[in-house]
Amino acid sequence: MARPDSAPAATAPEGLHTALQFVKGVGPARARQLRRLELETVEDALFFLPYRHEDRTRLTSFRSLVPGETHSCAGVIVSLSPPPRGRRGAPFAVVLRDATGYVTASWFHAPYLERVFARGQRLVLHGKVGRFRGSVTLQHPDFEIVESDDDDRIHWGRLVPVYHATEGLGQRPLRTLLWRLVETHGTTIVDPLPEPVRARRGLPTLGESLRSAHFPETEHAAATARRRLAFDDFLVLQLGLGILRARTTRARGIAMNPRGQLGERLRATLPFALTSAQERVWGEIRTDMASPHPMHRLLQGDVGSGKTVVAALAVATAVEAGYQAAVMAPTEILAEQHLVTFGQLLAPLGLPVALLTSAVTGRQRAARLRAAVAGELACVVGTHALVQEGVEFRRLGLTVVDEQHRFGVEQRARLRAKGEHPDLLVMTATPIPRTLALTLYGDLDVSLLDELPPGRRPVVTVARTEAKRPEIYAFIREQIAAGRQAYVLYPLVEESAALDLKAATEMAERLRAEVFPDLTVGLLHGRLRPAEKEAVMRRFKAGDIHVLVSTTVVEVGIDVPNASVMLVEHAERFGLSQLHQLRGRVGRGPWKSYCILLTGGHAGDEARQRITAMTETNDGFRIAEADLRLRGPGEFFGTRQSGLPQFRVADLVRDAALLEEARQEAVGILAADPELREPAHRGLRHALLARWRGKLDLASVG
Ligand code: ADP
Ligand code: MG
Repeated sequence: MARPDSAPAATAPEGLHTALQFVKGVGPARARQLRRLELETVEDALFFLPYRHEDRTRLTSFRSLVPGETHSCAGVIVSLSPPPRGRRGAPFAVVLRDATGYVTASWFHAPYLERVFARGQRLVLHGKVGRFRGSVTLQHPDFEIVESDDDDRIHWGRLVPVYHATEGLGQRPLRTLLWRLVETHGTTIVDPLPEPVRARRGLPTLGESLRSAHFPETEHAAATARRRLAFDDFLVLQLGLGILRARTTRARGIAMNPRGQLGERLRATLPFALTSAQERVWGEIRTDMASPHPMHRLLQGDVGSGKTVVAALAVATAVEAGYQAAVMAPTEILAEQHLVTFGQLLAPLGLPVALLTSAVTGRQRAARLRAAVAGELACVVGTHALVQEGVEFRRLGLTVVDEQHRFGVEQRARLRAKGEHPDLLVMTATPIPRTLALTLYGDLDVSLLDELPPGRRPVVTVARTEAKRPEIYAFIREQIAAGRQAYVLYPLVEESAALDLKAATEMAERLRAEVFPDLTVGLLHGRLRPAEKEAVMRRFKAGDIHVLVSTTVVEVGIDVPNASVMLVEHAERFGLSQLHQLRGRVGRGPWKSYCILLTGGHAGDEARQRITAMTETNDGFRIAEADLRLRGPGEFFGTRQSGLPQFRVADLVRDAALLEEARQEAVGILAADPELREPAHRGLRHALLARWRGKLDLASVG
């Protein structure tokens, strides 16, 4: 590159990937501070957006400050009052003057301000106005010392950005750095977004967006800029997911299209007819299985919507076509449960089903592994480790994954790469909002079980406190007298499993000895051996146990239609989707059912909102929306979603509508150019490679 001056060209010109340390005005010390904000490169810094803008075109004069309102104002320090010695609790206060009068600004726990402030300095303040002993004050305002008039364009007389700063790195140096970076790169940065997309969606260029996101002319320009940057996050995500998905649908898989006799026999054994939603979803799955491309489908349905039966039909079909099936669950307990339910459905057809988890060891394990590889086992049920531990099949045709948010895109891709592209059916029991489905499962086709089996009545859900305990017990007794059964649920908190176990055990003892001496009380917890658990569950299912005290192990799939009461102790400790799962354990039979959420006195605000959401709706989708709102997407995912690029700007809650727009564009772009080979898409291809960090193999491209 030609250089306009004769400066030695010893260092490469500053680019987006230049480490901040080598940017003019940033040295090793500052770079270390920037690293605390996770800013390593020029590009990182450019995408480090302010959390708000402050309007310094219109500073309020001191005389016009209104107590109770938030204002920006500026003045000169006329006096300093550090807290008197020995009175560390007193605030540090300064008095400032402007053309219209005086104000006092004060900060608690900030003795270091003595070294920061000096008389005669000009300060810009932003904060809530108060009144103290008759005079107007600002308590703990954001402040900035205005040093010179040179950089007025940056810090003054405009909308100025306010960043999440860090210790030793305040607003001014951050703002100065960003101003420089935006000036340098704003006009040269390559815009990956094709011009037609930008035109269609009314989005500014990348350079303009970065400039306005930091130093906007108007609030509207700042919002538009943010929107554009969030759009990029979503588009990169949706393009990547779209490419992953298209590759599966184009790949060669197994066409399984048997006559359907096993499926017919399975239906004949059921004491009910499938719902129309089950029929529709099964039709979608059967079509996928019959096609010569691998199925890659998500089966989404609320608790109790009957996913298992549909999955069992798929297993029967694979077996009839001469293949084997694998059913995978995220935990051992859930795998054991699936063994029971799938076993019950498939046994009448004479199909051998076996469990393979790490709990199955020794000769038994060896025998099952042999049977799997010999093709003698129709269906193997296990945890996700099933695939990784080198279990081999003679002819694996179908994999059913019950995942509850726990497997990521990456793991699914690994699964898909196994062997000869078996069909993949992913089941999720927690309905998730569409925005999240598009994010987490954008690489899958989606089938929705949006209808519960007939006769289900919404579970009556109430919130109660300790004072109501005697009445609750009386109510449980009534239900049991009427022939029903009850669950009493105890939360299990990881760090104190032993204590929790003790609490659950003591509760069971007390119920046995004092509250229900004439009834049978059972106890189920995670420390029991599988055979013991199984025995307790079987007795409960058979009606021999009236009240089952349990830690959360029943969350995942016990099916006892006769149970009509779910009493949740310490309901404030459970997450919303967990509570919804727990509630789903009752209301599975024809009887009216009840979920009682018992809370201690000191439930926090968010816990109360969760419990209110539970009492207001039985609809899993509305619960999921509430959960997403309350916890935010990061937490909602449980762990950081594996394999997906992190968003730099986008927010799944706030920008939900934008995600849909980005998805439409992604579909359009990939329809015309499936692997982004066209020159017009070069920028997008680079963005994808960078943001997916090698998890998306576009190596064959350009
Ligand atoms: P999910 O796995 O979606 O939570 P399940 O498959 O466990 O739901 O089904 C819940 C209960 O509903 C089971 O007892 C099952 O036998 C029953 N069930 C499933 N489909 C129907 C149907 N069409 N009509 C009546 N009951 C059904
Ligand atoms: Mg189930």
